[in-house]
Amino acid sequence: MSTLRFQALKESLGRDIVPVNETKRRSALFGENVFNQETMLQYLTKDAYNSVIDAIENGSKIDRSIADQISSSMKDWALSKGVTHYTHWFQPLTGATAEKHDAFFETIGNGQAIEKFGGGQLVQQEPDASSFPNGGIRNTFEARGYTAWDPTSPAFIYGTTLCIPTVFVAYTGEALDYKTPLLRALHAVDSAATSIAKYFDKNVKKVNASLGWEQEYFLIDSALANSRPDIVMTGRTLLGHSPAKGQQLDDHYFGSIPTRALDYMRDLETECMLLGIPVKTRHNEVAPNQFELAPIFEETNLAVDHNSLLMDVMEKIGARHKFKVLLHEKPFAGVNGSGKHNNWSLSTNTGVNLLSPGKTPMSNLQFLTFFVNTIKAINEYEELMRAGIASASNDHRLGANEAPPAIMSVFIGEQLTAVLKELEGVTDGKLSPQEKTDLKLNVVGKIPEILLDNTDRNRTSPFAFTGNKFEFRAVGSKANCANPMTILNTIVAKQLVDFKKEVDHLIDTKELKKDEAIFNVLREYIKESKNILFEGNGYGAEWEKEAKKRGLSNNKSTPDALKAKVSKKTIELFEQMGVMNKVESEARYEIEIEEYVMRIQIEGRVLGDVARNHVIPTAIRYQNMLINNVSGLKDLYGKDFKKYAAEQMQIIEEISEHIGKINVKVSKMTEARKKANKLEDLEKKAADYCNKVKPFFDEIRYSCDKLELLIDDELWPLTKYRELLFTR
Ligand code: ADP
Ligand code: MG
Repeated sequence: MSTLRFQALKESLGRDIVPVNETKRRSALFGENVFNQETMLQYLTKDAYNSVIDAIENGSKIDRSIADQISSSMKDWALSKGVTHYTHWFQPLTGATAEKHDAFFETIGNGQAIEKFGGGQLVQQEPDASSFPNGGIRNTFEARGYTAWDPTSPAFIYGTTLCIPTVFVAYTGEALDYKTPLLRALHAVDSAATSIAKYFDKNVKKVNASLGWEQEYFLIDSALANSRPDIVMTGRTLLGHSPAKGQQLDDHYFGSIPTRALDYMRDLETECMLLGIPVKTRHNEVAPNQFELAPIFEETNLAVDHNSLLMDVMEKIGARHKFKVLLHEKPFAGVNGSGKHNNWSLSTNTGVNLLSPGKTPMSNLQFLTFFVNTIKAINEYEELMRAGIASASNDHRLGANEAPPAIMSVFIGEQLTAVLKELEGVTDGKLSPQEKTDLKLNVVGKIPEILLDNTDRNRTSPFAFTGNKFEFRAVGSKANCANPMTILNTIVAKQLVDFKKEVDHLIDTKELKKDEAIFNVLREYIKESKNILFEGNGYGAEWEKEAKKRGLSNNKSTPDALKAKVSKKTIELFEQMGVMNKVESEARYEIEIEEYVMRIQIEGRVLGDVARNHVIPTAIRYQNMLINNVSGLKDLYGKDFKKYAAEQMQIIEEISEHIGKINVKVSKMTEARKKANKLEDLEKKAADYCNKVKPFFDEIRYSCDKLELLIDDELWPLTKYRELLFTR
């Protein structure tokens, strides 16, 4: 075994388990490091408290003098917990979170110093925006960026730093982050859904979109992970032969959690408790060393912040336990990848889940209204939904027979399929009393409050209804949920606005009763949205054919998928709903496509290096051993040597063939990269990287993986799949 690989394994196997300090009940720890309502009550004056609550609930502005009071109280609270610094915490379009720490410490002359944190520092900061992706916004407007406090997501302490969740925008107002458009989309869906919910209950004042994400990830011993340049540089393996045993025995899924991983999880969960992230579920996933963690769902903005924070904390706690946490969607070829299901629903301030069937025909009509409108929205904007989950890393997963295909469809289950079928037959215009009674008793009234258990849910569907929520299953494990959630909430908002117009129009012009009008519009929607409903196997080749017939998009690569983000239809949608203007949509597109190019570019470089610097030299070394052996045999047996050296000679040849192939393909890939780099047009460049550079990856890998099987294990320098995946 190569020295490096040997050292890594030795280090990994000799690990001591890090003791976990779990002394308090979790409920007692929950939110301890969060400036939440309970803490605010303790630290804030009544005026300040009310003003923050009003900002959270009604989006009102916080007065500057009140902000001064709040910041001062926040500082007192933070100091009492040993905090020294504060930071505006935000989510630029890099995918990671950003922070720049400033000390509370300030000098006041005469060699004296105090701790200070003013309202101005709480409310607004100016990080150097030039180093964050902006898609040309700043060049166009020569504007600086600033971060502004988002009071709807509470400040928290991480380590010795007070973190204040903020939006990040250009001085000209354009969003430079994930949070800003998300907040606008949540506002749009609130206002649209509230006006529909009022049809059913006048007391509804607000509708919150909820999000419950489920985070999948791999835990790899850090010594082993660090011994692989591809994992270090790209977060995934670019080569490596599948192990003799993979996941076919299904003996990992829901199996007993390995001790070391469990200790990591307990530590992570404790930290989550302190930060107010309500994690609840943990289990082994399908692949070896793959796990999942899920919280109790929350209001979407908070849930998104918590997921972004979690991804950061996961890595930090990982370091303590000597684990590298892989959030990449496909770290290992031939082994299940990771996703992040986004469970989504809408609920009112009166406590009603709008996507949950109720006890009465009227509440069920409300459920059906939101249910059908969501389906219609997905049908109208399926291509945009696909674009919302596109990334270089998620491309490996979508359509790879383990995750939903690149085709969007909605699964609703047998019971609701039958209900929609009945509704399709509702009479046009006014309904007779008999028809009304019939609908109430036999259709709407018959929807069970608890729908069939989820066990029969279709795991191959990218967007499945699971009883009281939709589950967007195609989101990538590494993704910031804000991107798909902004899209989903915007398209539903738009759909609900249109729905209200149509219903009101029928009430006004045809003198229909409200429920008659609703039935009429829903009937048409059901007819129009049939294409998106699919109950079959989403992994099958049949579905691809069928989807094509139905006219559904099937954009398999990120460069193709992303185009929907700047279609006329999308730009109009975001403008109409006040979520993003044209400049913002275009900037985001540019950033994402650029990121795609960079990811593939880096992977290409790393693969070229590893193939040439690790694989080929090792192959040559082993080949030399064989050559020595053959010439020894020749010395020994003279012209009869072939009788004894035939196998060796064949391996020598095979090695030469693979070396030749790798060398040629790496050169060709480098050429293709150079050509692509010269292209000025970003779209063309991305297409080149996708269609001309990336295809070499598999070809190079093929020969490298063959060599891994041929070459003496003692010499092989790269930690193997079986070691990465089965070392505990
Ligand atoms: P599973 O999908 O593993 O069967 P559940 O269906 O119980 O488990 O829930 C999965 C996730 O859905 C959890 O993270 C949960 O918080 C979330 N969830 C449940 N109800 C809602 C809701 N109304 N809105 C958003 N997410 C929800
Ligand atoms: Mg789930």
